Amino acid sequence: MPRLVDVALPIPLFRTFSYAIGEEVPAVLPGTRVIVPLRGRREVGIVVGERHEAEAQHAYKDVLGFPDASPAVPPALFSTLEWIARHYAVSFGSALRAALPVLLTSASAPNPGDKRERVAVLSRRLDSLMERDEVFRRSARQREVYELLEALRDEAPVRTLREQLGVSDGVIGALAKRGFIRLESRSTLRDPFAGRPTGPSPVHEPTPMQRAVIDGLASAAPGTVALLHGVTGSGKTLVYLELLRRLLAQPHASAIVLVPEIALTPQTVGRFRSVFGDQVAVLHSGLSDGERLDAWRVLHRGERRIAVGARSAIFAPLQNVRAIIVDEEHEATYKQNESPRYSARDVAMVRGRLEGAVVVLGSATPSLESWTNAREGKFVLHSLMDRVGGGTLPQVEIIDVRGPRRPVPSETPGVRVPAPPQMPTILDPFRRVISERLERALQECVARDEQAILLLNRRGYASFLQCVSCGDVRACPNCSISLTYHRTPERLTCHYCAHQEMPPERCVRCRADTVRQKGLGTQQVERLLGDRMPKLRIARMDMDTTTGKWAHADILDRVGRHEVDVLLGTQMIAKGLDFANVTLVGVIDADVGLNLPDFRASERTFQLLAQVAGRAGRGEKPGQVVVQTRTPDHHAIQCAIHHDFIGFAARELADRESPPYPPTVRLANVVVSGLDEAEVAKASQAVSEWLKRLVEARAIEGLRLIGPAPCAIDRIKQRWRWHLLLKSGNTGQLTKVLLYLAQRFKMPDRAGLR
Ligand code: ADP
Ligand code: ZN
Repeated sequence: MPRLVDVALPIPLFRTFSYAIGEEVPAVLPGTRVIVPLRGRREVGIVVGERHEAEAQHAYKDVLGFPDASPAVPPALFSTLEWIARHYAVSFGSALRAALPVLLTSASAPNPGDKRERVAVLSRRLDSLMERDEVFRRSARQREVYELLEALRDEAPVRTLREQLGVSDGVIGALAKRGFIRLESRSTLRDPFAGRPTGPSPVHEPTPMQRAVIDGLASAAPGTVALLHGVTGSGKTLVYLELLRRLLAQPHASAIVLVPEIALTPQTVGRFRSVFGDQVAVLHSGLSDGERLDAWRVLHRGERRIAVGARSAIFAPLQNVRAIIVDEEHEATYKQNESPRYSARDVAMVRGRLEGAVVVLGSATPSLESWTNAREGKFVLHSLMDRVGGGTLPQVEIIDVRGPRRPVPSETPGVRVPAPPQMPTILDPFRRVISERLERALQECVARDEQAILLLNRRGYASFLQCVSCGDVRACPNCSISLTYHRTPERLTCHYCAHQEMPPERCVRCRADTVRQKGLGTQQVERLLGDRMPKLRIARMDMDTTTGKWAHADILDRVGRHEVDVLLGTQMIAKGLDFANVTLVGVIDADVGLNLPDFRASERTFQLLAQVAGRAGRGEKPGQVVVQTRTPDHHAIQCAIHHDFIGFAARELADRESPPYPPTVRLANVVVSGLDEAEVAKASQAVSEWLKRLVEARAIEGLRLIGPAPCAIDRIKQRWRWHLLLKSGNTGQLTKVLLYLAQRFKMPDRAGLR
């Protein structure tokens, strides 16, 4: 019998392929990359294991090559990926694809070269000045190069010499020829963060409360998951840093730090880089393929042992992982929305167990899932209920913007004539957006030379355009969603598919010229504020102002240097920012998002408000928060303004019992999409019936099917969407059913059905 290996390929097929290897090949470990033939092409696959029996009469093809000296996927990561395949009902190949840099998946170039650069190294010293004058008598340029190299501790990339001195390659070549320098080719790590300042990071002594938490975490049993519930400003970052410092004292120990989004958390990332320096590899979604590969390699070789990054950093090819930190663990960005779909927080828990690492989930507003796990004793709970340095949580005021509108006070000096009550009031567009109270707070804040953050979680200028005669709302031709009005440049834009069109002059339906802007976006607030307070220095941060690679960091740097009075933005500004001079936070409309058709709408609103409120008063100066709302009694808003996470959790968990929603049950959403609405409806009906038959045939208990029904947004990018929900108290059973569905259900091959 030939020696065989089973190989997973990065394709969405639920099977492996077997190939033959020669007798002389040493044992092949799981996780090793191989090059194999598949349907006339060469592919990169990953060995799942050696196979010990062959099928009779089957002609096995040979493995064509072994590009690596050691497995590309280390053992614990390999097992984590197996879990992902089972738990999220995807093929092992798809899970692998999420874990390997794309540049390692091409069979034509399985080992793309490191980027190399030429470095000049001083090789002959000229100690006396006389000697120098003599040697460089007729070549002043060569002398400049020589002396710059000396100043740069004897070596520098040729590029640097050229840039700093403006010398030609000829000058450098001549120096080399005369034997004064040596030119070497070296591999460089393409580290896009290399040029970024790490920021000042005074390393503080932990407070006694922080120390108690650090001690608890550092001595936790391997595989422990801890929930660190610490109010905003309680110093969670220092806990992470100290914990890593202790655990990484052992040789070869490594760690993974997950943050919701690198671009939004430059301060947190900067702290890790300033404490751990070049032990840190930052994995950024803006990395080029080459940069990603470089970062992967330094981690794989163990040259750097802390991976800091967004959700996919959970796949860092590290070994001997001692700690996994998930900062702001409640954030929705930890979920990957494309196949393979996964929650990095849940993957972190599994990988932590397999590695024997301690997993720390940190948040001021934990997800209800984690909170429940902590209360049931599955997680260890650590709390930091006070701000460091005795700072207090900011005072929060609610402004009920439903109240009767008063006319704008006259600016003219002299007798003020009160408006007769029956007269219709002319609304000042500014006042409709910013209440008197918030305006005054803003003016006072700026007058004290302090800074403010203003939150409106809706970008664009107006939410939508509507004809007031016939009611028609301009909607996207590809998606069932209204288009958002943007002013600069003037466009109607779909926030789902990026479709753009010019705003119509007349209503497209009834031809009346009564098309009006409705709703409010950040662009409009920026303009209203600018008109009202021309001296105010406003920075706007939303998806439209942050398309460049460093755009977020640049805006935040300006805030940090106090070149900005008001930072205005969407939920982007609610996360992790720590500016001591920000003393006012204003929420322009707390109700955005509260009525979305999502069972987590209240939870998201609570988190957003609590987090943004936590940005105020983080230094010595006290903070103030003003929240404008039309639903001041909603529990999400009430609990947020009282900084009452525990009260919110109790109320919201009770609401999720009936009808049951997570964490009371596990929920799976099966979405059927396609180009034809009737076909999509029919197919989702077929899926539903298939599942019902399965439930009956296998006598599966406690699994509830809801739907099928059109999704809340029933068309995106021209694809119609229907869904059905599966609820179950038994996770293992639910994932088994889903895996079975993914593997066995035959979707008709028409109308682009998926
Ligand atoms: P959190 O993430 O819990 O909101 P941070 O980790 O951002 O809070 O810490 C809030 C602020 O407190 C930061 O400016 C941090 O430098 C400071 N800080 C944290 N721990 C200490 C300490 N032990 N002594 C002094 N300052 C501290
Ligand atoms: Zn669209």
